[in-house]
Amino acid sequence: MAKVRPGKWLTQEDKNFFMRLTPKEITKRFLQDIFSDKYNLVTNKKTESRFNTYDQFELKAGEYHNKEKIVTNCGIFIYNKRCLEETFLAEAGYQNVELTKKRVGKINEMLAQHAAKSKESLILYVDYLNKLRWLGDCIHSDICAPISIKSFKPLPKVQKRKKELLKKYEKEIAAKDLKTIDNITSELLAMAEEELKDDSSYEMYASGARGSFDNAYRRMQIMNGPVYNPSKGEYDIITNSLYEGYTKEDIATIANNLVQIFYNKSIGPGDSGYLTKQISAGFQTVMLDEKGSDCGTKGHIKFVLTEQLAELYMYSYMVEGSKLVELNPENVDKYVGKPVKMRDPSYCIGDCPCNACAGNRFYIEGLKKIGLTMSAVSGVFLNGNMKGAHDATIRLTEMSLDEMMT
Ligand SMILES: [Zn+2]
Repeated sequence: MAKVRPGKWLTQEDKNFFMRLTPKEITKRFLQDIFSDKYNLVTNKKTESRFNTYDQFELKAGEYHNKEKIVTNCGIFIYNKRCLEETFLAEAGYQNVELTKKRVGKINEMLAQHAAKSKESLILYVDYLNKLRWLGDCIHSDICAPISIKSFKPLPKVQKRKKELLKKYEKEIAAKDLKTIDNITSELLAMAEEELKDDSSYEMYASGARGSFDNAYRRMQIMNGPVYNPSKGEYDIITNSLYEGYTKEDIATIANNLVQIFYNKSIGPGDSGYLTKQISAGFQTVMLDEKGSDCGTKGHIKFVLTEQLAELYMYSYMVEGSKLVELNPENVDKYVGKPVKMRDPSYCIGDCPCNACAGNRFYIEGLKKIGLTMSAVSGVFLNGNMKGAHDATIRLTEMSLDEMMT
């Protein structure tokens, strides 16, 4: 996690200034007036902003949609005021978390659960997403930390270690041992991360806003790593980084790398698009059975419920003895990390997918003809192809048979 920038403590008067705000008063001009430093080109003088987003103050219990006494900051307060006050603040409560990509994603997921309750809530959710996009787009260039020289050049300590490791594992690298390459880059990345975590530029990586350390920084400053060579059916290794530049011997390998990246972006979406057409043609007539229906199948999927899988299976039914229990936002914490037996439409033996196998999500959303929603599967491939154009790093991971099946 990036080092937290030290903020000042607001006076009562300053706190009142924020508390009295209405969402409509929070315009781009207003945010720039209070959060942006000003630079005078004539006098060459900088005027510090009136507040920083990380300046702090206390909210007493119940003072503003918060149940307990909390310490919050100006940025988080503005987010709650501008994006949530007119949408879900009363239901969801004050969100007092650092607004990283991951945390905002979790809030959005939680609000999506509220949104699923009715059409009115769904309209509010769209309004919330518009407000969130507006807030991020209009002020980020004024308040976010820029890239620094330190993060833009290879770190001497890391370069020294890299030389040692490349020499030590010369044979393994020549033998194209991917596990050794992965270990080397992981060690160097961890070392670089440790050295950069107090640098302001690391905020960009830590927040999840732009570039992943594991991909962007690795290729720019550590090494390019393995690239698949389809003519030989094996991996070629480039040990230089983009900053160090490539050797003459690397040129053919880089060409392979480029083809793989652009194949993903140019031909890949066509493949996924065709799959979407096939899925739509094949499943367009699939309709759900009546609410409360149960085909009585004994089939179910057994797996350990992770947070990610919980999102996917929200409102589905778990088998507990002879009972079916719905997984929902109220009980999800009880099941995450535990093995569950989940009913799944792939085991349904009814004429149409039944309520017990399909879960309640579609019924809540008022969807009966669910066939066309199955193109979500090809959508995953489409996203993967598009992302593959930005991230061609080869990673190794261990996977159990159970994980492969879920
Ligand atoms: Zn069924």
